[in-house]
Amino acid sequence: MHHYDVIIVGAGIVGCSTAFALSKHGLSTLNIDALPSAGYGSTSASSAIIRPMYTHEVSACISHECRFIWQKWSDYLGLASEEPLAQYHECGGIMLLRDGELAERQSMMDAMASAGVTFNVIGDKDIEQRFPDIVLKGYGPPRAFDDPEFGMPSSGKITHAIVVDEAGYVNDPQLAARNLFLAAQNNGAVFQFRSAVQQIRQEADAFVIETDQGDFRGGKVINAAGPHSTKINKIAGVELDIELRAMRHEVAYMSNRVAHFEQGPCLIVDVDAGVYQRPDGNDMLIGTTDPDCDGKEVIDPDEVNMNLTSHWTRQAMRAAQRFPHYQIPNQARGTVGVYDVSTDWIPIYDRTELPNFYVAIGTSGNQFKNGPLVGEVMAEIVLKGDHDDAPAQLSLRHISKTIDLGFYSRHREVQQTRGVMA
Ligand SMILES: Cc1cc2nc3c(=O)[nH]c(=O)nc-3n(C[C@H](O)[C@H](O)[C@H](O)COP(=O)(O)OP(=O)(O)OC[C@H]3O[C@@H](n4cnc5c(N)ncnc54)[C@H](O)[C@@H]3O)c2cc1C
Repeated sequence: MHHYDVIIVGAGIVGCSTAFALSKHGLSTLNIDALPSAGYGSTSASSAIIRPMYTHEVSACISHECRFIWQKWSDYLGLASEEPLAQYHECGGIMLLRDGELAERQSMMDAMASAGVTFNVIGDKDIEQRFPDIVLKGYGPPRAFDDPEFGMPSSGKITHAIVVDEAGYVNDPQLAARNLFLAAQNNGAVFQFRSAVQQIRQEADAFVIETDQGDFRGGKVINAAGPHSTKINKIAGVELDIELRAMRHEVAYMSNRVAHFEQGPCLIVDVDAGVYQRPDGNDMLIGTTDPDCDGKEVIDPDEVNMNLTSHWTRQAMRAAQRFPHYQIPNQARGTVGVYDVSTDWIPIYDRTELPNFYVAIGTSGNQFKNGPLVGEVMAEIVLKGDHDDAPAQLSLRHISKTIDLGFYSRHREVQQTRGVMA
């Protein structure tokens, strides 16, 4: 049995990025994935929004640094082949704020300022000029779909928006994972697809990973199994203080041809209505900001209903509250995906109590954008080994900052962030 320095369970954006980073450091790696190729798991359902709007400085810094990487994706990968590459579109973004909410977003603006993000705050007149079809009535807090008052305005209105031009989206998240997979492969990384990990055991000073296609041996293991992360921890006998749950989400696609945007469509974060939106060709893609009234759809990641349901309708209708010109089609179009959610919606990138067993999990519906650097985060942690007392650091060269990776610790104080915006 060949012995790898590191075996990575999963070949989503996180697993592929980790293989790319570790192989650059000269380590031999093997990714094992149950699916047929890279990025076929939850990565493939990602809305792939790239935005620096986060509450914590580390989160804003890493996502802003990644924006520079997405802009020069080809250079970052160093792929010489004719392989198609995922494209980053910088359409800009706004976050709508209702009366009194601006002060509540101060920590987010401080985090963006510290990361060097350029942004400005505009008032309702400017919002109307930029989005002539917009309705600025307050709808929040969002109502449940079966509430007789669903769709009716509440009190107050949208008074401000935080405008961030340095934001956008990647057109094909699965392709981005594939790009990283090929770049890692060029560095010697090995990938084993269509192989489900069934057991993880220790033998002498190595891990033996049992799959339905045979056994593999590695000195270290990284759990990058996305929504299956808790199952992988369980079979390895690893427990974490921070709870992780797999949560099902739907994303609706609707034609944007009828909505008028002055400078072209952009990302819209609309917590008041309970949705985020981003352009996609002639479509607007509508996801949920997970308002409390909707509850959480916690599921077994092996038993996911892949059909669009009333959640699709609910999201489409919430988006149309803000833009009544949207035409909600009779035929639902969209995607279904699963988040791997931690208590504070911040990932855990860390070692565990089981020596040489690491985790890159709990990505909480918001880590695609950071995918390129998650591998480098994991490489710093793995190379340092035990970073509990003196956390590993990561230098972000585009924004000239160094971040403390203790932020992602399994032993961190759980933060107050409670939604996908984190
Ligand atoms: C609907 C949706 C919208 C999102 N929108 C955004 C967004 O706009 N911006 C953003 O930044 N992030 C977004 N995200 C989050 C982002 O997509 C995820 O954080 C990221 O893709 C997670 O990548 P991953 O590699 O950890 O997981 P995955 O892509 O799920 O990869 C895990 C892999 O592990 C494999 N695996 C699991 N168990 C086993 C096993 N036993 N044996 C072998 N292989 C196994 C799976 O097959 C899978 O391929 C969104 C996510 C979803 C679902």
